[in-house]
Amino acid sequence: MKDDNQGNPKSSFKMPNSSIDIYAVQCVKCYKWRVIDMQEEYEEIRSKFTEEPYVCSKKPGISCNDPPDIDYDSSRTWVMDKPNLPKTPEGFNRSLVLRKDFSKLDAYYISSSGKKMRTLVEVAAFLEANPELKGVSVDDFSFQCPRVMEDTIPEYADKKIPTGGSASKKMKISKDGD
Ligand SMILES: [Zn+2]
Repeated sequence: MKDDNQGNPKSSFKMPNSSIDIYAVQCVKCYKWRVIDMQEEYEEIRSKFTEEPYVCSKKPGISCNDPPDIDYDSSRTWVMDKPNLPKTPEGFNRSLVLRKDFSKLDAYYISSSGKKMRTLVEVAAFLEANPELKGVSVDDFSFQCPRVMEDTIPEYADKKIPTGGSASKKMKISKDGD
């Protein structure tokens, strides 16, 4: 893992149109959320999440005793990724775009030459047309998208609910346990 990229601004890693602003991983010991600065590092962690579960101490200078970097709440919309998705191969970028109605995300890959791919069929065709990309296979790509967490969708979201349903929408929010 490269550590010498730390000084780079986050924005340079943000894909145009990507809906993801912050990457976070949950510690398997204390359940606190840790922010991962770079998509590449996040994908690395995700790609082997089962064999190498994430713990706070993987973050330099951090332990489970430190307060969480971020809390799971409805102040922002969260999407939950599946573990063990392949890490995006070098020379490609993976972008996730949230639909306007917050119903789901769409994934696509962009090659360094700017080719956009939305399906594995398109990826396979691209790899075939670019044999110089040795070592990259279709298995390195996944269009599986994270799930949008319904309880973090903002109220203003253009949800496909019938008008007049706003009363029940508010009821859902008031779930203070004590
Ligand atoms: Zn921890």
